[in-house]
Amino acid sequence: MPSGKNFSGKRGGTTKKNAFCSFCRKSYRDVGPLVEGPGDVYICGECIELCQSILDQERKRRGSSKQLFTKIPSPREIVSGLDEYVIGQDAAKRVLAVAVHSHYKRLMAAEEETDIEIDKSNILLVGPTGCGKTLLAKTLAKSLNVPFAIGDATTLTEAGYVGEDVENLLLKLLHAADFDVEAAQRGVLYIDEIDKIGKTSQNVSITRDVSGEGVQQALLKMLEGTTANVPPQGGRKHPEQQYIQLDTTNILFVVGGTFSGIEDVISKRMGSRSIGFGQVGDSASEMSLGETLSHVNSDDLVEYGLIPELIGRLPVITALQPLGAESLVRVLKEPKNALTKQYQHLFSMEDADLKFTDKALHAIATRAAERETGARGLRSIIENVMMDIMFELPDQPRGSRYVVTDDIVEGRTKMFNEETPRTKSA
Ligand code: ADP
Repeated sequence: MPSGKNFSGKRGGTTKKNAFCSFCRKSYRDVGPLVEGPGDVYICGECIELCQSILDQERKRRGSSKQLFTKIPSPREIVSGLDEYVIGQDAAKRVLAVAVHSHYKRLMAAEEETDIEIDKSNILLVGPTGCGKTLLAKTLAKSLNVPFAIGDATTLTEAGYVGEDVENLLLKLLHAADFDVEAAQRGVLYIDEIDKIGKTSQNVSITRDVSGEGVQQALLKMLEGTTANVPPQGGRKHPEQQYIQLDTTNILFVVGGTFSGIEDVISKRMGSRSIGFGQVGDSASEMSLGETLSHVNSDDLVEYGLIPELIGRLPVITALQPLGAESLVRVLKEPKNALTKQYQHLFSMEDADLKFTDKALHAIATRAAERETGARGLRSIIENVMMDIMFELPDQPRGSRYVVTDDIVEGRTKMFNEETPRTKSA
């Protein structure tokens, strides 16, 4: 609370009973002592506080936009940043890089106050589970140094139903930005499972509006750009609550979904077209899942159950490829924070050395590929394999060396020290 006590009787303060604040026009009697400026100008404590917060916000805004200006990476730089963490998905990386580069250029243009307003390019990622959709969005945000949050469309419901309001997604972004509204307004928000709110989706719960269309409408507004009232405590909105106002105009939305079965929609569309050109529809049906997905367009998504207005707000659509065993081997060893590197680090903390043979990596990858959960399966498989040795490791003599072989992965033998004779196939 502003208190006038500090000013009274000191230089610059006034106790003139008939004075009033030149900013809010309230009188000395209402707001307490005022600070006096030259020529009968006064300001009250409340207005001083307000001025201070305006200046703080402005300083922050300038600071962060300056930082942004000097750091907008080129699409090529963005792709190489993504390459450090994400295996494959080259087409999606390029599309994302261009969209993101334009997005932040757009913010720059807004700062320069030119007449040309560049439209925002929210992004839709289509691809099977565990192929890197979330990872791509997360890595992007990291390389751009902007706040990033992940939300899930399936938790959302139309106002009035049991579940969350769309504003709760924005709350996550605010959290990620430590409640710095300016920073959150430039952040990246990834919304997963967008396919589950499709009109024709079979995953509709009875607590949600049956068509899923209400949720899509609510999302639409957020994607377009609106001033949203975010409840700081989360949960359902209620009238007495104080809200944080967040402008979503400059937030980059990346939405993702597996859209399982959409390949049928795509090949049907392509099949009929190729027949129209006098060819047999075989080529379309023979295409691999990855190839088929790469042809996804907005019509297919409408057919799948997304409303055209929502798709209109997602002008950049790109497909990710399913990860085969070969790619999964790369996922195991190449990214900066690859699983094998993580284990090697844990071992090095115990002064121990850890190696995986190529055959072992292949065995792990093959198993994960069978599960059809993409790279997601890798973690639990490798944790299973490492379980015993992780238990024993701290009690082992320091400086030991360990090699994980395919026999160990397949459970044909236990983990041994390097010195211990290894089994036949190693
Ligand atoms: P989804 O496509 O379902 O969003 P995620 O991005 O959440 O999948 O991937 C799950 C995990 O699998 C990630 O944390 C990451 O470790 C790993 N992963 C998935 N795809 C890739 C990839 N292309 N390159 C490297 N790691 C990946």
